[in-house]
Amino acid sequence: MKKPIRVAVTGAAGNIGYALSFRLAAGDCYGPDQPIILQLVEIPQAMKSLDGLVMELADCAFPLLHGIETADNPDDGFKGANQIFLVGARPRSKGMERKDLLQANGTIFIAQGKAIEKGAASDVRVIVVGNPCNTNALILARNAPGLPEDRITAMTRLDQNRAVAQIASKTGAQTTDVEHLVVWGNHSPTMFADYFHATVKGKPVAGAADTAWLEKEFLTVVGQRGAAIIEARGQSSAASAASAAIDHMRTWWTGTAPGEWASMAVMSHGEYGQPEGIMYSFPLTIKDGKYEVVQGLTHNEFAQQKLRATADELVGEREMVKDMI
Ligand code: NDP
Repeated sequence: MKKPIRVAVTGAAGNIGYALSFRLAAGDCYGPDQPIILQLVEIPQAMKSLDGLVMELADCAFPLLHGIETADNPDDGFKGANQIFLVGARPRSKGMERKDLLQANGTIFIAQGKAIEKGAASDVRVIVVGNPCNTNALILARNAPGLPEDRITAMTRLDQNRAVAQIASKTGAQTTDVEHLVVWGNHSPTMFADYFHATVKGKPVAGAADTAWLEKEFLTVVGQRGAAIIEARGQSSAASAASAAIDHMRTWWTGTAPGEWASMAVMSHGEYGQPEGIMYSFPLTIKDGKYEVVQGLTHNEFAQQKLRATADELVGEREMVKDMI
C-alpha cells in the first residue's frame, strides 16, 4: 500500500461535493492501492452539514480512506494538500449580473490562491469546478504567483463527456468507441465541442453523423445540457459534474493513454492563435503529471469562428476582474 496523499475539496457539503467525496474515498480517482486523507473545506455556516457527510463517509468504512479532516477556512483546509478540488463557489442569485458573480467569486479565489501558495504540498495540482470556473482559475493563478501556473486547471471534462455521450448515442456506438472529441474554450454555452477531429470506431465522426445534426442539434444539446438537467430535475447536475472532476484528475494523475486526448482549461500561451493569459480549454496529452497542448490540428472557418467566440467571452470575463489579477 502506498503512502496516503492529501486531497482537499471545497464546497464539500454541497451537491457536487457530496457526490465527489464518496467517489474519491472509494478509490475511483487515484486507484485501488492509493490511500487518501480527505480535507473537507466548507464555509462556517455549512460546517454542521459537513459533519453529517463526515459521519456518512466514516460509516462506509472505505479501506482507502485513511483520515478525514475538516476546515472552515482555506488556510487550514489546504495545508499539505497534494490534490485540490475547488468546487465551492458563490451561486448566481436572481438578478445578479455576470460581473457581480465574477467579483463575488473573485474574492473567494483570491484567498484560496494565497492559501494554496502558502500551505499546499509542493506537488499540488488544482482543478477549479466552481463557476465561472475558467476565470475563477485565472484569478487563483494570478494570486498564487509562486505556484507554477501549469498546476492550476479548470474543468471542461463534463462538456467533453456530454459530447462523447451524444455522439455515441447518435451513432449507436459505445462511449469508449468515441475518441479525440475535445472541448475548446470556456466552460459555458460558447464552448466548442470539436467533432471535426473526433472518430467513432476509428472513422471520422463527420462521416458517421450528418453535418446538419452536428452543427446545430449536437452543439446546442451539449452547450445547453446543464440547463436541460435543471429543467428536468429542478436542481443542477451534481453526480455527473463530480464524475467529470474525477475523470479530469485521474487523467492528470495517471496520464493519457497512447493516442488519448483530454480537455482541460489551462493557461493559454497563445496556442492556436488564442489570446494569451486566459484559462482556455485545449486538447491535451499528459505524462508524469505534465500536460502538453496537442499540436498541429487544423480548423475550418466554422470551427475558427467558434474558437474565437469562446475566447472573446473569456477575454471579456478577464476584463471584468482585471482589478483582481
Ligand atoms: P453545487 O455543488 O451544485 O455546485 C458547486 C459549484 O460547481 C457551482 O459554482 C456550480 O456552478 C459549479 N458547477 C460546475 N459545473 C457544474 C455542473 N455541470 N453542474 C452543476 N454545477 C456545476 O453547489 P451547492 O450550492 O450545492 O454547493 C456549494 C457549496 O459550496 C456549499 O456547500 C457552500 O457552502 C459552499 N461554498 C463555499 C464557498 C467557499 O469556499 N468560500 C463559497 C460559497 C459556497 P453553477 O452555480 O453555475 O451551477
